[in-house]
Amino acid sequence: MTEEPRLPRELVERAAALDAQDPLAAFRAEFVLPDGVLAYLDGNSLGRPLRVTAGRLARFVEEQWGERLIRAWDEEWLDRPTVVGDLVGRTVLGAAAGQTVVADSTTVLLYKLLRAAVDARPDRTEIVADTENFPTDRYVVAQVAAETGRTVRWVEPDPATGVELAEVEAQLSDRTALVVLSHVAYKSAYIADLAGITAAAHRAGALVLWDLCHSAGAVELRLDADDVDLAVGCSYKFLGGGPGAPAFGYVARRLQDELVQPIPGWMGHAEPFAMGPDYVPAEGIRRLLSGTPPILSMIPVEDTLGLIGRAGMPAVRQKSVLLTEFAITVADQVLAPLGVTVASPRDAARRAGHVTLEHPAMRDVVEELWRRGVVPDFRRPRGLRIGLSPLSTGFAELATALAHVEQVIRTRSG
Ligand SMILES: *Cc1c(COP(=O)(O)O)cnc(C)c1O
Repeated sequence: MTEEPRLPRELVERAAALDAQDPLAAFRAEFVLPDGVLAYLDGNSLGRPLRVTAGRLARFVEEQWGERLIRAWDEEWLDRPTVVGDLVGRTVLGAAAGQTVVADSTTVLLYKLLRAAVDARPDRTEIVADTENFPTDRYVVAQVAAETGRTVRWVEPDPATGVELAEVEAQLSDRTALVVLSHVAYKSAYIADLAGITAAAHRAGALVLWDLCHSAGAVELRLDADDVDLAVGCSYKFLGGGPGAPAFGYVARRLQDELVQPIPGWMGHAEPFAMGPDYVPAEGIRRLLSGTPPILSMIPVEDTLGLIGRAGMPAVRQKSVLLTEFAITVADQVLAPLGVTVASPRDAARRAGHVTLEHPAMRDVVEELWRRGVVPDFRRPRGLRIGLSPLSTGFAELATALAHVEQVIRTRSG
C-alpha cells in the first residue's frame, strides 16, 4: 500500500481557501465529472464536456436532424458558421459581428488564410514565422512558401519563453508579406505582444495572422481594437467543442473584399443552391467557407461559449492566473527539491492558461499519473504540461494532482 498523496498542510489549506473565494467555483459542477478522473489537467488540449450538451445533442438528433431533415439547411444550418462565428467573436475574441466564421480544422483554415494573405501582397517575397510554433503551423508556412515561391524568415525564440517583438522586428522589411505567429506558445504558455507585433508588421506594410488556439477562452483578446488582420484557432481546447470540433477564422472587415481564399467551394458561394457554372464568392466573411461545415460539433462549442459568456472573460482570466500561480508555488516549494523545473513564464502578465514542468523522468511519471486518473499532458522530451481550464478546474483538484506528481517522482527516485 502506498501512502495517500498529500501536499504540505499549508498548501492544502491555501487551495481550500482559493476554492472558497472563487467566484466561478459553481461553474465546475456544470461539467461531466466522472469519479474515475481524480484531476484533469489537459483542458487546454481537449476541454471537458458540459452536462447540458448531452441533452442538446440528443434533441438535435430527434428534432432537427430527425424531423426537419434536409429542410433544416434552409431553416437554420446554412447560417450556423457565421452565427456561431459571431458568438465566438463576441464572447472571446473582442471581434464585432461579421468577421468570424466556424469551419474546417485549424490546419485547413490556417492554410486558406496564409495563402490568401500572401497572394494579397504579390510584390513581397518573405513570410516571417517562428521555429517554436506548433508543427501544423510550421508545415503550412513552409508549404505556402514553397508553392508561392516565397522565403520564410524563421525567428528562433527561446523555448522557455516565446517570440519577442524585437526578434520579429529584426526580420521585418519591405519584403515581408505576412507575419504568422501563435499568440500563446503551446509549450511554455508565453503570451506574445500581440498589439506591439501587429503594429510593427503594419509599419513594415505586412499583414499579420495570429494563431489563437491556446488563447481563445483563456486570455482576453481584443482583435478589433488591436487592429489584427487575420486569426485562426481551434474550438476543442478552452472552447470545449469536443474531438474534431471545427476551427474559427477571423478576417478584419476592411480586408474581406481584398483577400481571395484558395479553396472556392459551394458553401462560400454567393448562392450555394444556384449551382451556377462559376464561383461567385459570398459577401463578407462567409466567403471563407469551402465545403459543408460540421453542424453537430458546433453544439458543444455554443454551450461552452454560453458558460464563458455568463462568467465573463475578465473573471475567467483572473482565475486562470490564480490557478497557474498556485501550480508554480507548489512546483517551487515541493517539486523543485526533486529536480523539477518550471518552463513557463513567472510573470503572470506574460503567462497564459498552462504551466510546463520539466524533469528527466517525466515520460514515465505521466504514464503512472494517467493510470491513477490524474491526467496532464506529456510534451517531449521532459515536459509535464498542466493545462488549467478555469471553468472546469478547481484548486483542490489541482492540489490533488500535484500531490500525486510529487509522490510519483519521489518514490521513483527514492
Ligand atoms: C492545437 C493546435 C492546432 C491544431 O490544429 P488542428 O488542425 O485543429 O488539428 C494548431 N495550431 C496550434 C498552435 C495548436 O495549439
